[in-house]
Order: sequence, then structure tokens, then C-alpha cells
Amino acid sequence: MRILIIILFPFLSTLIAHGETKPSDQEQFALWEKLVQPSKGEAMPIGNYSAGCLQGAESLPLSGPAFVVMHPERKRYFGHPELLSYIKSLASTVRDNHLGILLVGDMGRPRGGPMISGHASHQIGLDVDLWYSLPKKAPRKAERSRLSAGHFTANGKLAHWNKKLTKLLELAIQNPSVDRIFVNPIIKQSLCRSEKEAAWLHKIRPWWGHDDHFHVRLNCPAGSNQCQPGTPIPDGPGCDSDLAWWFSEDAKKTLIDRGKKERVFPVLPAACAALSAQ
Ligand SMILES: [Zn+2]
Repeated sequence: MRILIIILFPFLSTLIAHGETKPSDQEQFALWEKLVQPSKGEAMPIGNYSAGCLQGAESLPLSGPAFVVMHPERKRYFGHPELLSYIKSLASTVRDNHLGILLVGDMGRPRGGPMISGHASHQIGLDVDLWYSLPKKAPRKAERSRLSAGHFTANGKLAHWNKKLTKLLELAIQNPSVDRIFVNPIIKQSLCRSEKEAAWLHKIRPWWGHDDHFHVRLNCPAGSNQCQPGTPIPDGPGCDSDLAWWFSEDAKKTLIDRGKKERVFPVLPAACAALSAQ
């Protein structure tokens, strides 16, 4: 064995010196995409929402009494048990309020971690995308992989919005485990006008896209000491200069620049490398 190492050493060191043994970003994304089973152990988010992983993930049933998972073929219906409870409980509340069936979009992968397409976050099992559309009847199985979410803004304005959707957001944010909810800036702007006095506006945060779904992010669960909380939300309802920026030239330019950037594989905590290798 020692002889083999001695023979190979100059070869290996050349490879390392040229960085050829380090997998590319694409290869690292692909590696996480290949993990199809949750890891063992108690549920534990590790790292932050945009650079982390999830030990002991659970899968949400593909349908329940008041919800349906959309695009199950993407296999992004895994999360922390608190996220699963949150979704089930919100779906029941939505049903009790006669709003319709809750359509569940992407949660996370079986071990959390970075995703090859789409989201930068959704990595520690505490994020879920929920559709604004609230059908009266659950979509049939074949439709769940075919339908796409309807958009609720058009030409820089709100479109097809109604009071039911405002109520949906209000119900979604009531749970104290919610850290924040991301919506399109046009939707936030409209809520700032119609719900001026509402304390819950504080946690509704503007972000690009998010006009066909809203993104719920939960706080780090109690006792999960490897989970890094998000940056604090500025005080107040967030309807002033903070919101105005989203309609500025600077925001347009930032969006264009974001589109040009190649996706970079994030630096994950060491515990995530161990989790991916299990
Ligand atoms: Zn999302």
C-alpha cells in the first residue's frame, strides 16, 4: 500500500495542485440532487436558509384532507417536521374559512441542501412555496404535474387578486413559527394600501417573482443549535422607502445583473458534507 502511495503521490499532488480533484459547482449541485432518501437521526436544520442542509427530513404526504402537493415529480416535498405541521395546520384553517384547497409547491430535497434549479434558499427544511390559487376541488393526479401556478400581477399591476388571497396571507402569517413571507413587491404595495393598520404586514417581505406563489419561511425550531436565523426584519410595516426601492431603476438593474450571474454552489457547513456522504 505504501509503495502504491509513493508511486501515486506525484500524480495525485499534480491533480490537487491543478484543482482537478475538486468537483465543479455543477457536479456539486448534481451530487445533492442524487440524494433521494432522508438521512437518519433526529430532525436538525444545519446552516442557513441559503447554505445548509437538513438531517432527518420527513416527507409531506402528496395529498391531505385540505391540501395537495403540486409537481410531486420534482421530489421537493421534504422538510423539517415543524414545516409539515405548519402546512397541514394552515390547510385545515384555509378549509375552515371556506377558501379552498391549499396547493403546495416546492419545499426541500430529502436532505435539504442546494438545488440544481430554481431556489437559492429552501435548503434547511424550513421554506415552502404555496400557490395563491385556491381551487374548490383538489386537482386530479394527472393534473398535478401538468398545471402551472397562475400569476397575480401583469404589466406592473395586480391582476386577478381578490379578498380571499389577502385572507390567505393573513392566515398564513398568524402562526408564531413564521419568520417571514415573501411576496411580489406589487402585492406588498397593494397590501400596504388595503391593510394599512395590520400588524402582520411587518412580516410580509417583497422579493422578485413570487406573483404566482408566496414563500413561507419558518424560524429555526427551538433547540436546533446548528440552524442560523435569518437577518432581522426592519421595524414597522415595511411600506415606505424599503418598499419604494423595489420599483426603482436600481432594482431593475440589480435584477438584470442577477440574471447574468452563474449559479455558484454555496459554501456549506462541514456537517453537510458528512450528511451527503452517509
Ligand atoms: Zn420559495
